[in-house]
Amino acid sequence: MQLCVVNQKINRNMTKITIAKGDGIGPEIMDATLEIILAAGAKIEIDEIEVGEKVYLAGNTSGIASEAWDIIRRNKVFLKAPITTPQGGGYKSLNVTTRKFLGLYSNVRPCRSLHPFVSTKHPVMDIVIVRENEEDLYAGIEHQQTDEVVQCLKLISRPGCEKIVRYAFEYARQQNRKKVTCFTKDNIMKQTDGLFHQVFDEIAREYPEIENEHWIIDIGAAKMADTPEAFDVIVMPNLYGDVLSDVAAQITGSVGLAGSANIGEECAMFEAIHGSAPRRAGQNVANPSGLLQGAVMMLNHIGQTDVAEKVQNAWLKTLEDGIHTYDIYKEGTSKQKVGTKEFAQAVIANLGQKPTILKPVSYANNAALSLPKYQRKSPMKKELMGVDLFVHWPGTEPDELASIVKKLELDGVKLTMITNRGIKVWPEGFKETFCTDHWRCRFKPEQGHSIGKSDIIRILQGALDQNIDAIKTENLYSFNDKPAFSLGQGQ
Ligand code: NAD
Repeated sequence: MQLCVVNQKINRNMTKITIAKGDGIGPEIMDATLEIILAAGAKIEIDEIEVGEKVYLAGNTSGIASEAWDIIRRNKVFLKAPITTPQGGGYKSLNVTTRKFLGLYSNVRPCRSLHPFVSTKHPVMDIVIVRENEEDLYAGIEHQQTDEVVQCLKLISRPGCEKIVRYAFEYARQQNRKKVTCFTKDNIMKQTDGLFHQVFDEIAREYPEIENEHWIIDIGAAKMADTPEAFDVIVMPNLYGDVLSDVAAQITGSVGLAGSANIGEECAMFEAIHGSAPRRAGQNVANPSGLLQGAVMMLNHIGQTDVAEKVQNAWLKTLEDGIHTYDIYKEGTSKQKVGTKEFAQAVIANLGQKPTILKPVSYANNAALSLPKYQRKSPMKKELMGVDLFVHWPGTEPDELASIVKKLELDGVKLTMITNRGIKVWPEGFKETFCTDHWRCRFKPEQGHSIGKSDIIRILQGALDQNIDAIKTENLYSFNDKPAFSLGQGQ
């Protein structure tokens, strides 16, 4: 009877998590990670699922069975070892699918130097990359439209921007960080990256105690690689974040040391940032630190901050003791080269201890962030201002195309511009501009006229009648009286 009561007590404090041991070095680093966190007192119950190579090769192109989704969604917390995505065969990346299906909009990657114990050119680096995780070019909407041209749609949404930017500022506030920097390329992508930057400026005003700044991504990335100590928290759209978070992890000393949290409103997934390193599999050599860092973020997320802190300080102490796996082992700095299991045992032996030279961590205020849900704004005034008709045309002379496409003009709706890959080639283009077979023909109403959707249908009907290969249209709108489409380059 007594035993029963004790068990119930324990179970009430337990958090059920889903784990997947993955492929390659995955099972070894997962075993090491679980051994460490359980030895530290993590109160978790584990549901294991199978994902990755075996599932792909059994004919499931998403790498995960539907029953596994049920378990992940029920438990809401997922610790995932790296998996191998087989080459070719149309296999979809399980990571991208998981992030999008579960709405894991925020990818958080702390990148901190462990100087002088892990060799790095940047001894005082301590940055956190907050990467938008669901949209941008990763919407994966791609089409071939002509013999010569394929496109990928870059989708950026206001809710997407608001959620990730607010997450970055809330994270900075919780972690007592001083500055949030935004990286975009809004000098070129004025609509998409422009929205991200605009939302950043709006939300930054709500956090006056935190410094904020914006850098154009190219020079910002160069500065980060050269002088990372100039940055603290950096928030950015998906693609830039994907690239730069690997750069940031690598310049701390090794990608093998970094973990990552993927946070959504309902669920969260934690992982190492590296892959399954198949050539190292089964040899007890892999460094489990990346996944362990993911697990530390998971423990914080589920409110077991004391356990997270204990693990992190023991891990720092172990690195400080010079007990290193092959990937960070260096004569002179390291003391002992160890395998995966031995490294885990060394961390376990250090549980309860703190590093003496590296700064110990304190996670007292580190529980999961609770952000307000996105509130849809009142609708804007939206007005049709024209249409871009894209055509597949194998000719090379823009004047010739203009004379053909002018046949589609309507009363009061005229052809105003032709571009090729965004560059204006008519009227008054340069003969030097190289042209592909993919042309954008812009129709706009003349002064005193307007355009409606039926006009667009008439233009398309005209294209059909004239044997012009129309491949798509894009409507040109103004929102709240502001034109909301790009001009042609050179216009
Ligand atoms: P990788 O990260 O697996 O390996 C790159 C290099 O880093 C290798 O030389 C490897 O030996 C070393 N390395 C990586 N992790 C290490 C560790 N923990 N300890 C010691 N050394 C380590 O990248 P890759 O070789 O390009 O990809 C291998 C597979 O992993 C591919 O199938 C890829 O699709 C997959 N992948 C999965 C994830 C994920 O599941 N999150 C991420 C990236 C790549």
